[in-house]
Amino acid sequence: MIISIASGKGGTGKTLVATSLALALNDRDRAQLVDCDVEEPNAHIFMKPVFTHREAVSIPVPKVAEDKCTYCGKCAEVCAYNAIAVIGRRVLVFPELCHGCGACSYLCPEKAISEHKKEIGVIEAGHSDGIAFAHGKLAVGEAMAPPIIREVKSRVNNSGTVIIDVSPGTSCPVVESVKDSDFCLLVTEPTPFGLNDLALAVEMVRKLNIPCGVVLNRAGVGDSQVEEYCRKEKIPVLLTIPLDTEIARLYSRGITLVDGMPQWRKSFIKLFDQIEEIVHERSRGTER
Ligand code: SF4
Ligand code: SF4
Repeated sequence: MIISIASGKGGTGKTLVATSLALALNDRDRAQLVDCDVEEPNAHIFMKPVFTHREAVSIPVPKVAEDKCTYCGKCAEVCAYNAIAVIGRRVLVFPELCHGCGACSYLCPEKAISEHKKEIGVIEAGHSDGIAFAHGKLAVGEAMAPPIIREVKSRVNNSGTVIIDVSPGTSCPVVESVKDSDFCLLVTEPTPFGLNDLALAVEMVRKLNIPCGVVLNRAGVGDSQVEEYCRKEKIPVLLTIPLDTEIARLYSRGITLVDGMPQWRKSFIKLFDQIEEIVHERSRGTER
């Protein structure tokens, strides 16, 4: 089963939930933690994995042989990302906009476009106390997170339970990370900002047709609007974590919640059991 941990808003406690869920589960199941927040991966700070594998990730970027080019403009026409332009008798490539889709080289009538590899980041994989761990790191100045996310996700071994730590927001990297999940856990906080971004995240997972539930973090800091929204939208609040300076202190020292406060282990196992029940219930419904 693949469970992605997302949030519309940054800083709500996604990594706190992802790491503690993986650790709590590992006692009874084979868990894998995959950090797809490739612009700012931080699950490794808490898991302290031993990395055994490191690999560069590249995308193919076009290179134009001007002696073959007729400046027909077909490449610029097919590029959905404005990464190639034909101006008079010049073809300009903007590598930082290129998604490496290969459409321009495939469709160039003169076969004037070859591809060269551009490194955009790395993936690292290893383990932490029996938990398989993988994450991706986008190189500084690069903007193409989805190819790295796809590479990290290709390391997923879903014979056990896979926990995916997703970047905040609802943009392309988030969709790339969340898609194919069996369940999406949305971590939020009871504030107007938390509610606004939760509603956007709910809209996204509904479009992807993935069931979701909420973890309410820092309960007590704001108001009850998030709970009211969840009731209205029939989204289960599966775990509530109070605003607690001890939890914040542990987090700032890179200590997971279940390691620093072992009494939370039971709550995370219960959280997983509820998710499993929802996923099974849903698959029974689609079988009927
Ligand atoms: S499609 Fe090929 S021939 Fe046409 S402008 Fe682009 S590179 Fe040149
Ligand atoms: S590879 Fe794709 S994204 Fe890059 S320039 Fe060509 S068409 Fe555009």
